Amino acid sequence: MHKRTNVRTNGCTDAQMREQIRKRTKTRMNKNTGLHPVLGYFAPSGLGGATHLIKKYSCMRGYPCQGGVYDYGLWAGLQPLAADFLPLYFEANPPMKHPQEPLDESRQGEALLLNSEQGAGKKLYLESYGCQMNFSDSEIVASLLAENGFSTTRNLYESDVILLNTCAIRENAEQRVRTRLRELQHLKKGKPSLVVGVLGCMAERLKDKFLEEEKLVDLVAGPDAYRALPSLIAEVESGQKAVNVLLSLEETYADVSPVRLTGNGISAFISIMRGCDNMCSFCVVPFTRGRERSRDPHSILQEARDLFDAGYREVTLLGQNVDSYLFYGGGPKKEFKALSPEEQSNAVNFAKLLRMVAEINPQLRVRFTTSNPGDMTDAVLESMAAYSNICKYIHLPVQSGSTSVLDRMNRGYNREQYMDRIAAIRRILPDCAISTDIIAGFCGETEEEHQDTVSLMNEVGYDYAYMFEYSERPKTLAARKFKDDVPAESKNRRLKEIIALQTEWSKRRNEEELGKEVEVLVEGLSKKSDQDVFGRTSQYKVVVFPKKHYKAGDYVRVKIHSCTSATLLGNSIE
Ligand code: SAM
Repeated sequence: MHKRTNVRTNGCTDAQMREQIRKRTKTRMNKNTGLHPVLGYFAPSGLGGATHLIKKYSCMRGYPCQGGVYDYGLWAGLQPLAADFLPLYFEANPPMKHPQEPLDESRQGEALLLNSEQGAGKKLYLESYGCQMNFSDSEIVASLLAENGFSTTRNLYESDVILLNTCAIRENAEQRVRTRLRELQHLKKGKPSLVVGVLGCMAERLKDKFLEEEKLVDLVAGPDAYRALPSLIAEVESGQKAVNVLLSLEETYADVSPVRLTGNGISAFISIMRGCDNMCSFCVVPFTRGRERSRDPHSILQEARDLFDAGYREVTLLGQNVDSYLFYGGGPKKEFKALSPEEQSNAVNFAKLLRMVAEINPQLRVRFTTSNPGDMTDAVLESMAAYSNICKYIHLPVQSGSTSVLDRMNRGYNREQYMDRIAAIRRILPDCAISTDIIAGFCGETEEEHQDTVSLMNEVGYDYAYMFEYSERPKTLAARKFKDDVPAESKNRRLKEIIALQTEWSKRRNEEELGKEVEVLVEGLSKKSDQDVFGRTSQYKVVVFPKKHYKAGDYVRVKIHSCTSATLLGNSIE
């Protein structure tokens, strides 16, 4: 652990400060805020928000988190204090059993911890950013390194290797990782043997910058290079910098069985494909993750069965475009058409894969993301209708309601075709919830085109939406072809408008649930009170209700009595 020798902020000696910490950390965290009263003590003048520090750490250690945006600058300022304070804090406050929402903002930067034997091997600290796919990849990385004698830790100060699994989808995701790497430089100064590396989507783009120019890292590995990590780490240990950002046409990590013990033990992600062949003009994914490849369905089924046997009750099948899943023994998709009719009929597409996973056990809920409006067939919707355990929830990113913007985005569908898919969902799955992604202020977006998005939102009435300001990404078609010419204020105002509209729709959709009986899969204790549990409906709606004897993994029928735009409240029906 990093040791300090003097105190900078409050004039106490180390011994006095430790004594104060010991005394104060006897008090438990405030149940409502998730924060510890001792924090005020550590806030140097002018840095009144020391709570950020503890929220960040709380999150990494599996404590409940409030809010979502952590001030890394502040954290850097407080880091020397944290080295002394946090071990004592965590000793005095063992983690509470609050599961974290999948991929809410608070999971960004979460450190992964496997429940494997904490042996004498090297310690890996692995932090993840970005989408589910990245979090799922981190589990693959940890499993591959576990086979090579590494155990995971959530304590930065005891780690031998620190890896950040990064996201490049928007510019702010990149900035966040850069800031984090700068903070880690402090640690490296005190422990020169420490290996710091960057994985994932930023790897390819920033390999020269991070490694050579800014000298922020020792190692860079792209999404298809994780099997090489043990040798890359060995290279760094022998005094060299190590890089592998080669993208593959075959790698699916099908044989790697990820160990997942950081989540709630109830829901898990299964990667069914990698890469993306859609060249949406705004999107960096094809450049960072390579060409689309589908994973062998047998390995997917085995992973889902293993999860069910281990007590999991929900799996989410992951891919950039799950509707495009197609496995016929491997090889590029374009060769499929050249196969004989018999070979083609043996292939597994997404509609078929869904049914195969659903048949594992009716008690295993099946979800998937992300669907693509251009590829989502009625056959997929019919598979969903045929199995009650395939959840009635579809995330169908529209990006814009304007046909001309969709055309510039190279999305491969227009507004009418998108609305045709919405109509198919409503026809085949009348009780299905629908969510979307929307980008505000894409290149050349006029006020009228923005209004098209507003009118489409009103036409669909989404249950939820993830909304972003357009951020230009290097190498993409849009960066090469169009000007990022919508003024920042207009982007921001348009984003605010659609967020406000979506909040209204989310509330309205939740109000439609009032008085209904729904089936909830319990995920854990509610964040606000340990007298309540929370879980989700098939439609992915969060429901909070009195705990009684219920525990994570139970299916409970709940009658809804009230709601907000984000949560349904109810009582269980015995
Ligand atoms: N594969 C999915 C699709 O194509 O719909 C999702 C890909 S991406 C990981 C998730 C979302 O990030 C996208 O749907 C889009 O709304 C948003 N996004 C991607 N690139 C962006 C950019 N350059 N600026 C702003 N938002 C972006």
